Amino acid sequence: MFSRVRDWLCPDLGIDLGTANTLIAVRGQGIVVDEPSVVALEKGSRRVLGRGTAVGKLARQMMGRTPESITAIQPLRQGVIADFEVCEAMLRYLMQKAAQQRGGMRPRVVIAVPCELTPVEKRVIFNSAERAGAGRIYLIEKVKAASIGAGLPISEPIANMVCDIGSGTTEIAVLSLAEMVASRSLKVAGDEVDNAIVNYVRRKFSLRIGVRSAEQLKIDVGSAYPLDEELHAEVRGLDIMSGIPRKAIISSEEVREAMQEPLGALLEGVRSVIERCAPELIADLAETGLVLCGGTALLRGIDALFREQLGIPVRIDEDPLTTTARGTAICLEHLQHWKGRFQSEAA
Ligand code: ADP
Ligand code: MG
Repeated sequence: MFSRVRDWLCPDLGIDLGTANTLIAVRGQGIVVDEPSVVALEKGSRRVLGRGTAVGKLARQMMGRTPESITAIQPLRQGVIADFEVCEAMLRYLMQKAAQQRGGMRPRVVIAVPCELTPVEKRVIFNSAERAGAGRIYLIEKVKAASIGAGLPISEPIANMVCDIGSGTTEIAVLSLAEMVASRSLKVAGDEVDNAIVNYVRRKFSLRIGVRSAEQLKIDVGSAYPLDEELHAEVRGLDIMSGIPRKAIISSEEVREAMQEPLGALLEGVRSVIERCAPELIADLAETGLVLCGGTALLRGIDALFREQLGIPVRIDEDPLTTTARGTAICLEHLQHWKGRFQSEAA
């Protein structure tokens, strides 16, 4: 009964605080906020535009297009908070939007965090959420939340493997009996893929393009594995020699060549985690395989590449951009029961 009143007054929140996207789930309602992790500020005062509301989609549209007096920034870099005050402002706005707070109570929150945080980085996330209005704060590793969101039977004595490939980081883990047996966090993910495409286009076409155009190329024609019918796209940039705008046609084969290094690093990361497991667990993985999630899991053919290179079954979660947030929502349902498992204080 009390929990129902509390749900109405001040519902618990599950937060996937990502480098590219922040998602918030409300207990009993599912995901209610899904916004880019971008904030638009007035340069001098560093005040958030629109009285604290220039956060998310609107702010992202401004990136790279702002006049002198305004700046649009991402408060997280490679999974960790790079700008404390801006992150706090972003969380405050998004949490208020999610909870539609009544009566000034502070919500309990479960926040999904990278698995190799230093104590200082953990403390920064804690303080930032607290100052943004959170009450009791529980931290859960992103891969653990993702494995719950993907519906894996993690509390059984069978090994399961999850790889969350976001924009700034890739989180890889093998779980068994609800605990992580081996894990690794790589600073290679979607952003590195975009940078690799920028560099390739500069080398091969003598054309300077921005990371946003590179990301668009990746989404439109990028493929980690050969396609039956390869794709083509037009790319516009500045000619390096003349400084004049020019177009070029780039094929999905060329984009694949451009992405080779970061994709190789991801495969290496997954292999290194498998190698750390006991033989019994490795035998399980040959059956249970690997689940991919995170936005970069949407890259064409990434499952085929991983299957071929790792020799285990690979599947992409049904909606990879929301896997982790859905996992935090499930955690909220079991908060009374599971809270001992979460870290409720920064170490
Ligand atoms: P984070 O957890 O770091 O916030 P997300 O899981 O939200 O990241 O994923 C964002 C990443 O997914 C970006 O690098 C983006 O370019 C990439 N992405 C989104 N859609 C696609 C797609 N269709 N194909 C390839 N990459 C994609
Ligand atoms: Mg993520």
